[in-house]
Amino acid sequence: MIIDPKAALAESLPPLSEQEAIVESNRCLFCFDAPCTRACPTHIDIPRFIKKISTGNLLGSARTILESNLMGASCARVCPVQELCEGACVLGADHKPISIGRLQRYAMDFAYAGNTVIFHPDPPTGKRIAVAGSGPAGLSCAGELARRGHSVTVFEKRPLAGGLSTYGIIALREPMEAALAEVEMIRRLGVEIRTGAELGGNLDIDYLRRSFDAIFLAVGLGSTPDVEIEGEQHIIDGLLYIELSKLDARSLRVGRHVVVIGAGNTAIDCATIAKRLGAERVTMVYRRSEREMTAYAHEYEFIKKEGVEFRFLTKPLRVVMTNGEVSGLECLRMRLGEPDDSGRPAPRPVPGSEFVIAADQIVKAIGQTKPSVAELLHLEIEKGKIRVDEFFETSVSGIYAGGDCIRVKGAASTVMGAQDGKLAARAIHARLTNQGTANG
Ligand SMILES: Cc1cc2nc3c(=O)[nH]c(=O)nc-3n(C[C@H](O)[C@H](O)[C@H](O)COP(=O)(O)OP(=O)(O)OC[C@H]3O[C@@H](n4cnc5c(N)ncnc54)[C@H](O)[C@@H]3O)c2cc1C
Ligand code: SF4
Repeated sequence: MIIDPKAALAESLPPLSEQEAIVESNRCLFCFDAPCTRACPTHIDIPRFIKKISTGNLLGSARTILESNLMGASCARVCPVQELCEGACVLGADHKPISIGRLQRYAMDFAYAGNTVIFHPDPPTGKRIAVAGSGPAGLSCAGELARRGHSVTVFEKRPLAGGLSTYGIIALREPMEAALAEVEMIRRLGVEIRTGAELGGNLDIDYLRRSFDAIFLAVGLGSTPDVEIEGEQHIIDGLLYIELSKLDARSLRVGRHVVVIGAGNTAIDCATIAKRLGAERVTMVYRRSEREMTAYAHEYEFIKKEGVEFRFLTKPLRVVMTNGEVSGLECLRMRLGEPDDSGRPAPRPVPGSEFVIAADQIVKAIGQTKPSVAELLHLEIEKGKIRVDEFFETSVSGIYAGGDCIRVKGAASTVMGAQDGKLAARAIHARLTNQGTANG
């Protein structure tokens, strides 16, 4: 069977038609003190943007979304809406909740299709801000500051801007073009984006401190850590696997029998790619049980329907090689013991329970390493992440941080990165214009 990778990984939810958007928007009760708005981490005025769709004012609707969240187009696609706005919709109790994510995407796609300038920046303040990292946190902060008239330069180490929205989120949820359209909108606000510029590499912090009035670090996290087993060098990094599937899926070699190590959302994305691009059997291996897995419940349901198998309470021991090729993953069965530091029951080995899962490709998706710039810049850290105060300022005055690189509690997500960037921009603006450090 010949698989067209573009079609196999095409966005899973089709865009709403005009008719569907009007019908869906007219179902909304336009609640006062709307619970959906309260449930959104960026507090988008959801009934207001939906009302504007119902009256055909799509640019006005996009403007309402962007007022609260400059990453509104990405969030429309990738937010776990079941857990957030749609989960809180009053209609959910007896009927289907309003499809808030799809309506948001409808308005944002309309706005970006026309390359429209939605906001005009305030008059120049003469202040300069450097942002390191162009993921949701960096772009949100940069855009908010540019709207307030500041001169902002984003320094990004990769060739393309957009962070994990561009490189890391599976195309089924967010194609690369959607992420890049958002980057363009930030550029149109007057933000300069310099790619190939790595803080701590070819970009020096002292240069930034001399040349800019404030610095915002939005460098995310690092690559996937080692599994620390024999044959490590034959295990593929899950983030790279996803990246290749987005950049050039034809160049991604997918095995016949693929084992994915991990059971979080990234692992599910890797398993989905393998399955959709032709693997006959995909097995996810996790050392704890189904109850402790970190993937969203709806993602778990989705991947089971894709036909992916699970091996819970299973710990990888070594990569098995035959004639120089990967032929399996030797594992050990586990049982759950007393809770560990994370509060979850600790997996304990069952002696003598070794077994081999046949595989010709092994992919690891077991989280990301901590942000390395923290040490480099001598910033205080907390659980490996950059420590910030309530105004997103680090232990060094004038250096702020947000997004995954500061996330100690709660799930790292696009919308939380966008909210951090927005709030940090407000704090930086207040500091640079001597308005105290009020935030909200
Ligand atoms: C596989 C995967 C799937 C995900 N799916 C979802 C999802 O469906 N929904 C959701 O809400 N969230 C999802 N997330 C989480 C979400 O993508 C992140 O929480 C979000 O991107 C964090 O934004 P950020 O700006 O903090 O970091 P990032 O998006 O990681 O961006 C950081 C940027 O900084 C750059 N950078 C790093 N170091 C330097 C340096 N020294 N100098 C200059 N630039 C640097 C990086 O190249 C990158 O572009 C997913 C994450 C992964 C890994
Ligand atoms: S809770 Fe549901 S019905 Fe009420 S405003 Fe929000 S989307 Fe509309």
